[in-house]
Amino acid sequence: MRIIEKLPEMQAAARDYQRRQVDLGLVPTMGALHDGHLSLVKRCRTENTITVMSLFVNPAQFMPGEDYDSYPRTWSQDLELAEAAGVDIVFHPSAEDMYLPRRQTTIQVHELTKYLCGISRGQGHFIGVTTVVAKLFNLVSPRRAYFGQKDAQQAVVIQRMVIDLNFPVEIVVCPIIREADGLAMSSRNRNLSPALRPRALALREGLVLGRDMLRQGETDANTLFNHMCEQILRDDAIEVDYLHIVSPETLQDVEKVDDLVLMAGAIRIDGVRLIDNILVGPDGPWED
Ligand code: AMP
Repeated sequence: MRIIEKLPEMQAAARDYQRRQVDLGLVPTMGALHDGHLSLVKRCRTENTITVMSLFVNPAQFMPGEDYDSYPRTWSQDLELAEAAGVDIVFHPSAEDMYLPRRQTTIQVHELTKYLCGISRGQGHFIGVTTVVAKLFNLVSPRRAYFGQKDAQQAVVIQRMVIDLNFPVEIVVCPIIREADGLAMSSRNRNLSPALRPRALALREGLVLGRDMLRQGETDANTLFNHMCEQILRDDAIEVDYLHIVSPETLQDVEKVDDLVLMAGAIRIDGVRLIDNILVGPDGPWED
């Protein structure tokens, strides 16, 4: 496995693969790897000759007061996991190289970032995400890039950016990988204390309740929302950052569930912010 830290070296390698018409897939991550990340690698490897994983804790997508400093960093373990998963190139740029002091350019998807995490974290979070992903696309020139449904809004926002700016990249969105008890895998789970870890399931339980009520015929979004919220807030260790039942395309709230919806939430527990979602319609799917 090759490790590339310098931007010109990454671009030169990418150019070389492009010239030889070798398909290159990109899996962007912020490290602290878990099976969710590795599922993206697995999919990437089935569809591309070369798999590049970027490992970069992107300062631009953390808003002031967020957990940039305490974000888990497990570099040597990440390298072992990436190598074992069959990653060909780890791209690990420094923040100084990625963000020059005189930079003046960002990318913003204006509408889709107004909702969900765009409210609780602010649209600046997504400006950080789209700007870094656009830079990674320019540095790695992937034919395909792999993202998780775990960050459902991020996937929709990036898809919009790719269409709007004509990036020659196919975006592949992969299913959420969960722990045995159903908790969505996340690098931030490492920051949960063992005592509170089981209670982090509250969001998942609220989302599953919404799905079960829908299965039993309840399609009024407000009723679903109220029951889901009540379920999550049963545990007083939990703060709800947001909970919404939205169109998976526009991310705007729906009143009635007559088509696929995204039930998406964010909670805070033990000083850790966790997100999760379920994509479901009146006819299912009932499992995920
Ligand atoms: P992160 O390192 O958290 O920025 O995540 C890097 C990529 O992995 C993003 O596209 C995430 O959506 C994806 N990802 C994170 N957690 C999971 C998970 N539990 N299942 C599937 N994909 C995930």
